[in-house]
Amino acid sequence: MTRTLVVATNRQELATALPPVGGTGDVGLVMTMGALHAGHAALIRAARQQNDTVVVTVFVNPTQFGPSEDFGRYPRNLDADLAVCADEGVDVVFAPATAEVYRGRGEVTIHPGPLGDQLEGAVRPGHFAGVLTVVHKLLHILGHVDRAYFGEKDYQQFVLVQRMAADLDLPTQIVGRPTVREADGLALSSRNRYLSVDARAAATALPRALAAAVAAAESGADGAAATAVAASVLRESPELSADYLELRSADLGPAPERGPARLLSAVRLGPTRLIDNVAVTLRGTP
Ligand code: AMP
Repeated sequence: MTRTLVVATNRQELATALPPVGGTGDVGLVMTMGALHAGHAALIRAARQQNDTVVVTVFVNPTQFGPSEDFGRYPRNLDADLAVCADEGVDVVFAPATAEVYRGRGEVTIHPGPLGDQLEGAVRPGHFAGVLTVVHKLLHILGHVDRAYFGEKDYQQFVLVQRMAADLDLPTQIVGRPTVREADGLALSSRNRYLSVDARAAATALPRALAAAVAAAESGADGAAATAVAASVLRESPELSADYLELRSADLGPAPERGPARLLSAVRLGPTRLIDNVAVTLRGTP
């Protein structure tokens, strides 16, 4: 079916573009900060398969960036993003200015709970309050969303959005989708374009470290040993320094002795910060 992409930049245009609230047909949403790549496209495709109307938001949210972070230089190219959305059969793109989203005093925000201060949150104070607040706002600005799609690339974000939906009784189903990677394993990210040729080559140490931990666990290593294997791979790349490398349970509590776990890491390569994570299955002591 040929679809016509409607671009809305304010709430009025959005209301006209969206199907009426309470109408029939499911609405699927992919929230992005633009600079769309194949990882975003995979989320859009999943939304396209499961919903009648697919909405993509393109909004670089200032409140999730720290004062010394890359908000100002974050890549922005709406025309290229619209081309991706048109190719993927998106119905509506909502690309508002900051003032259109933040119209209030901005004093009331979503508190992410204890997990918001751990892992990414320990390095980026206030980041998840910014993320959850904008996710909550965009869901409400849209009016009704049946399913919202999030990448496991940002696993802690996915878990926290799921938790917000459960704790605050949001009517939206939060759907997680696997990380899309380059052929050499590097997770696709809008920030990869910051990497120099040398830094891009060094960046593969991150997925290699995580894959080494998965393999070690498959061979019977316990959680600590599997994490140590990953740490040693990271140490082999002097260009790269780790903010954290931590094994957790699948819902980001303490790592279990056996069963499904998640290994998460963030590394710095010069001025660029990359994050990644993998599912690890711990076999436990027999
Ligand atoms: P961003 O534009 O970076 O805020 O990401 C928007 C959405 O795309 C989030 O749900 C991300 O987790 C997801 N995403 C980003 N990169 C990838 C990837 N490589 N694979 C799958 N999903 C991704």
